[in-house]
Amino acid sequence: MPTTIFERILAGELPASFVFRDDTYAAFMDISPMRPGHVLVIPQQPVATLDQLDLDVRAGLWELARRIAAAQRQALGSKAQHLLVNDGKAASQTVPHVHIHVIPRYGRDHLQAIGQMLWHVGTLMIPKPESRRRRERLDRLAASIRTALESPQSGN
Ligand code: 5GP
Repeated sequence: MPTTIFERILAGELPASFVFRDDTYAAFMDISPMRPGHVLVIPQQPVATLDQLDLDVRAGLWELARRIAAAQRQALGSKAQHLLVNDGKAASQTVPHVHIHVIPRYGRDHLQAIGQMLWHVGTLMIPKPESRRRRERLDRLAASIRTALESPQSGN
């Protein structure tokens, strides 16, 4: 029985805009992006911290995050990215299922980034009701990142 939001997403009980999915990993758009195109990369294995993951799965998780960052740069024109892990509750982890935040940065976006990051942290504990407009926006972003991820010239 799924216990976290991410397990419920993996089980299909909650909607998500997927960028990638196989038997070991999944990647989908963060519902409250710190920058447009913010993706969460997770293992299927439902553990809270990196230490609890099998070694090969842990290595593959970082490689998938790197590939998604490359796909974001190709699809969205981002210039660089934050790869961020809150690895446990005392490190501000709110969903106890390992996840790497892949947050694109667009250059000259310091002010927007600070504003959005403050908003993100300030509203983290407030549930985000499903909205059609937001889902369509996340689906569009996911589709373009997915296309870049699958494209042979992406170097992914
Ligand atoms: P943490 O604070 O645990 O590192 O990050 C949890 C992330 O999960 C946050 O960035 C938050 O916006 C995201 N999140 C929380 N609930 C949902 C949800 O229902 N769907 C999606 N796609 N992301 C979620």
